[in-house]
Amino acid sequence: TRPFLRGREFMFFETHNMYATHEDVMEQIESDRQIMKRVYWDKLRLPHIFLIRPQWDKFLGANNTYVSDTLMPDGRRNQMSSTHDLGQNFAKAYDIKFTDKDGEIKYAHQSCFGPGIWRIMAALIGIHGDDNGLILPFEIAPYQIVIVPVLFSNEEENRKIIEKCDELEEELKQKYRVYFDNSNNTPGWKYNQWEMKGVPIRIELGPKDLKEDKIVLVRRTGHKTKTTLSELDQTIKQEAMALDDDIKSKAEKYFAHNTKTAETLSEIKSTIKSFRGFVKAPFCSIDKDGEGCADIIKAETEGAYVCGIPWLKEEQEQPRKGAVCAVCKKTAKHIVYIAKSW
Ligand SMILES: [Zn+2]
Repeated sequence: TRPFLRGREFMFFETHNMYATHEDVMEQIESDRQIMKRVYWDKLRLPHIFLIRPQWDKFLGANNTYVSDTLMPDGRRNQMSSTHDLGQNFAKAYDIKFTDKDGEIKYAHQSCFGPGIWRIMAALIGIHGDDNGLILPFEIAPYQIVIVPVLFSNEEENRKIIEKCDELEEELKQKYRVYFDNSNNTPGWKYNQWEMKGVPIRIELGPKDLKEDKIVLVRRTGHKTKTTLSELDQTIKQEAMALDDDIKSKAEKYFAHNTKTAETLSEIKSTIKSFRGFVKAPFCSIDKDGEGCADIIKAETEGAYVCGIPWLKEEQEQPRKGAVCAVCKKTAKHIVYIAKSW
């Protein structure tokens, strides 16, 4: 995943929008959040949190920067997208005006939304994958099913197996993205190869299965099941859903387990050192006046950032009564997320 996160060139989209009012900008930011949620969670099963960056870490010239951060397996945050509320700042600098409904000429309000495609790829590969390779959600896998014949020395038998695999491929092609691996490699080699590529379901067909009129299905996350031709489609659907659940629960557990809490600077330090991931801690301010405390955290933890606070009110935690900033001991206004970063 390193080239996706640290390459000199990277792929991302940017959308630049202009509006009459600041309310319109905020509506766009909410819409961007929902788009990202649909892509990250509903499709890719990547847990993430939508944060407002602190004032010292926002896009230069913006009023505010809103991001979606996830956690990579090494515990570092990966910013997958950002939307900047540019206010009228750039409109004033570049003299971008429009005639409003009331006939008056006004400066436009702007937003800029940028999902980092390669950063999303890195998250998809890193968060779901295992030591054998990719694990891809069924819906997005380039090949959803691979068919592997298990052949021995009986040529007549082999011919029948290949025939059956051909039939299966033809039938499944109507509904799914299927590949029939009829190459000369051994079944074991093929299993490893297609596991590495993250194909969600493998169908194995050998002489014994053919005799019993059975088909073996192996889920990429490890589960093996036998079915009949008449129940094949139903079993594929079940296995696809089960795979999705496996991916989802593993990712959710990882994200939850690696989001810890701390009260003091020394707790932040030890937590970042032993668990990495996100640490939530009471903090004085995400306005400019909190930057000094963020710098101290960064220096003391060998590089952890104050990532911000959740944008959604229902995800924001209030510091308990009397809580003080983990660094300067002034009254804590926020519970901030802290993490090392890619
Ligand atoms: Zn402070």
